[in-house]
Amino acid sequence: MSNCAIVGINWGDEGKGRMVDLLTQDYDVVVRYQGGGNAGHTVINEFGKFALHLLPSGIFRQNVVNILGSGVALDAENLWKEMEQVQAQGVALTPDTLKISDRCSLLLPWHRELDALEEQRLQDKKYGSTKQGIAPFYSDKYQKKTILAGDLFYPERMEAHLQDLMEWKNLTITKVYDAKPYTMDMLHAWIQEYCEKIKPYICDTGAYLKQAQAEGKNILFEAQLGALRDLDYGIYPYTTSSNTIAAYAPIGSGLPSAKIDDVVGVVKAYSTCVGEGPFVCEWFGEEAEALREAGAEYGAKTGRPRRVGPLDIVATKYGVAVQGATNIAFTKLDVLSFMEKIPVCTHYELHGKQTDEFPSPAALDFAKPVFAYLDGWNCDISHVRKWEDLPKQAQDYILWVEERIGCHIGYISVGPERDSIIIR
Ligand code: GDP
Repeated sequence: MSNCAIVGINWGDEGKGRMVDLLTQDYDVVVRYQGGGNAGHTVINEFGKFALHLLPSGIFRQNVVNILGSGVALDAENLWKEMEQVQAQGVALTPDTLKISDRCSLLLPWHRELDALEEQRLQDKKYGSTKQGIAPFYSDKYQKKTILAGDLFYPERMEAHLQDLMEWKNLTITKVYDAKPYTMDMLHAWIQEYCEKIKPYICDTGAYLKQAQAEGKNILFEAQLGALRDLDYGIYPYTTSSNTIAAYAPIGSGLPSAKIDDVVGVVKAYSTCVGEGPFVCEWFGEEAEALREAGAEYGAKTGRPRRVGPLDIVATKYGVAVQGATNIAFTKLDVLSFMEKIPVCTHYELHGKQTDEFPSPAALDFAKPVFAYLDGWNCDISHVRKWEDLPKQAQDYILWVEERIGCHIGYISVGPERDSIIIR
């Protein structure tokens, strides 16, 4: 048996979905352990192209059991819509291949609205929320003001609890934001239309995982976003509201006794960042536009142009450390093929000194990037499948990065398709 977590090292959108889709061939179970419908994992395979928001990326393999763990923000409406969409594209989903933890907290209908109302109130001080209700959801979860998926099996008890929650939440909605209150009719419609549809998939996934562990099955933990968006270790307050790091996988998956043998950290060959917050090596103007175009850097969930810049060694080294990465998947190397020289941010200049230590979030506003320039390779590498067939400059670039971040780069991705990979 071996357990592995696939996690983002930077700001998210590193290509985790394509790596999970590839590596699931060696695993029996794939578990999503945090986050909700606020991210998009893009997967391209024999079924077509998918932007998965809530479903684990193992759903394309019929012999893999996919689990939404208790740490996930269970958005019944979006999950059901996503399930319908992938099934329409030929992917079979059954309660045998998709299991939802009965300990998942439900994202309630007002969470998305509260997200939008708060961003509207903040105006130019907004955090850049994806408006999927994630921050209001996790705040309420920790206040114990939401319901669990397992409550759906006890409708009378749940109804009484929902009524209390609604009355409490309506105070904020009407008095703070001057918006329309929720009614029980609205909640009944939500339960009928979405919660009842996902109910057959809800079960005691903790017991399932314990059994899988006892039988020596291989379990893959799939993270959403990246280390720099982790609530505790990221660029707070421009983080997400959950823990994205591998250390949280045992808790959020529902298998607290899990030992994680391998942590595959996904790093993109350059930097991107969606939304607000400090982004030290950000590029602007024509340079940025060229890189954004080459990498098709537009959000999978929102369609927003992503902020782009060169690879940031300072942030990446930090991400590798907090994730405890044991192996790196380096993605989108093919995107850099158009560059004569490859810029890389090696240090930050902060308070008159150069540092390669990632500072506290407040200090990031004052950090300036220091760049080194490596030779480009200027040819198409998207067909390359072997390390020795990569141009020398591309090999040198990988080896140079590997030395600086202190972790082996075992996978190099040169295209979005499942087989566009070099295993080293
Ligand atoms: P995730 O959230 O970490 O799964 O990443 P996203 O799905 O948001 O972003 C990754 C994007 O890059 C998707 O559109 C992928 O299809 C694409 N992609 C992944 N790996 C590669 C690669 O090696 N080369 C290229 N050109 N595209 C890639």
